[in-house]
Amino acid sequence: MPSGIVYLVGAGPGDPGLITLRGVECLRQAEVVVYDYLANEYLLNHAPPAAERIYAGKIGGRHNQDQEEINRLLVAKGLEGRIVVRLKGGDPFVFGRGGEECEALASAGVAFEVVPGVTAAVGAAAYAGIPLTHRDFTASVAFVTGQEGRDKDETSIDWTRISLGSGTVVFYMGITALRRNMQLMIEHGRAPNTPVALVRWATTAGQQVLTGTLSDIADKAESAGFKPPAVTIVGEVVNLRKQLRWFDNRPLSGRRIIVTRAADQAGEFSAMLSGCGATVLECPTINLIEPASWEELDTAVGRLTEFNWLVLTSVNSVRFFFNRLDFLGLDARALGQCKVCAVGPKTAEAILARGIRPDLIPPDYKAESIVSEFAKQAVRGQRILFPRADRAREIIPRDLEQMGASVTSPVIYRNILPDRLCPETLLALEKRSVDCITFTSSSTALNMAEMLSTDLLANMLQGVAVASIGPVTSKTCRDLGLKVDIEPLEFTLAALLNSIQRYFSTAAR
Ligand code: SAH
Repeated sequence: MPSGIVYLVGAGPGDPGLITLRGVECLRQAEVVVYDYLANEYLLNHAPPAAERIYAGKIGGRHNQDQEEINRLLVAKGLEGRIVVRLKGGDPFVFGRGGEECEALASAGVAFEVVPGVTAAVGAAAYAGIPLTHRDFTASVAFVTGQEGRDKDETSIDWTRISLGSGTVVFYMGITALRRNMQLMIEHGRAPNTPVALVRWATTAGQQVLTGTLSDIADKAESAGFKPPAVTIVGEVVNLRKQLRWFDNRPLSGRRIIVTRAADQAGEFSAMLSGCGATVLECPTINLIEPASWEELDTAVGRLTEFNWLVLTSVNSVRFFFNRLDFLGLDARALGQCKVCAVGPKTAEAILARGIRPDLIPPDYKAESIVSEFAKQAVRGQRILFPRADRAREIIPRDLEQMGASVTSPVIYRNILPDRLCPETLLALEKRSVDCITFTSSSTALNMAEMLSTDLLANMLQGVAVASIGPVTSKTCRDLGLKVDIEPLEFTLAALLNSIQRYFSTAAR
């Protein structure tokens, strides 16, 4: 039997971007993933779909008995010869019981590796704008468990040293015992007006920060109903947050937004949204694939010089068209004197990147704008090659024909349903923890409705702001029974992002 291995991987504190490259590599190979409640569920997307996913939270909380069960599970899977990832919140060796898991593996003779992670104190400090050390304030920092002594009569923490020995002190698991811990620090000599910050769900869209002092933070936490998981940062450095806060005051901070574009296209828009503070839930509703047959397009390409115009209506059309030329052993020169029309600025950019300057750039994919641009071009008798997606509307080729042009419109890609919708996103919708969903084409909305059923879609999107890229998509949304809350005037991702920001700048939190 091949020997198994258990990777103890630090998932980081919450933001899925804070896992290490090595951690992602391990997840990509995983056959079994055993994960914690503190590990961001999105990281599971890095694991192969076939990997077994075991939620260790169901096995137990933080009790010894349950920990032993987890140890036994890891050992058993390792002995079965499986590649196991034990995905742990933060860093496996900082209050993560990773040491105990490794001891169990070592004594059973199961190979293991430890992949460090960004621990909660470090993540919370960075995302709250609180440098843990600073030349003007402190040269030392201590990480301390805030619940030590809960099951013991005597606490093993030397409170005098903790209170006075370290400039910055970060308590983990310290919310339930907050009042006692703050009191102990004061009793052991720390000034009652020392600044304190509580950082909950650090580095995630749900991050909450409460600031105060050793003497008043417990009252403040109580009246705010502040709950775990949170770290407590004590020290003068907390004051720097006033100036260094950057994460939780961005325009879309705290907002969870679904992007429904095809997986290979979502990246750009997701990055734009997260750059403004949103947490992006990617839920591809489209899978773009080659046409069932290339015959029609290949025939047209064979007579490319006979066409007066090539019209490409999206970045996808550009990609599929030029990839096909490439496959046929051709390049941009095959276009000869054929003029090129790029619909929308992004399409124009994609065409420019292929070394061709578009002759005509209608601003967007609306029949009126394309038709009115062509009206200026005297198209009567002109031959137009208009590659299209299989489900694209036929209006534009028809309108151009009515203007006297001869239009050939072969299918250049197909827009099919993905195998399934992202389960993590569906879970977030069920938990009502989503603020906004974005539809960047009619197909994204239609496909989602088809996969969920129209009724269920409308139901799941109650209370979720619907953002549509333009009037055509908005109409599709309305036909599906959705209320469109956000629609930009211009048909671009940048304009959509602006409208979303505007909407949330006035919306209640
Ligand atoms: N191994 C983890 C710590 C696990 S102990 C790490 O290195 O971060 C669990 C405690 O970690 C929680 O009680 C809380 O104090 C802290 N914690 C974990 N994730 C957190 C987060 N996103 N925000 C704030 N505190 C967090």
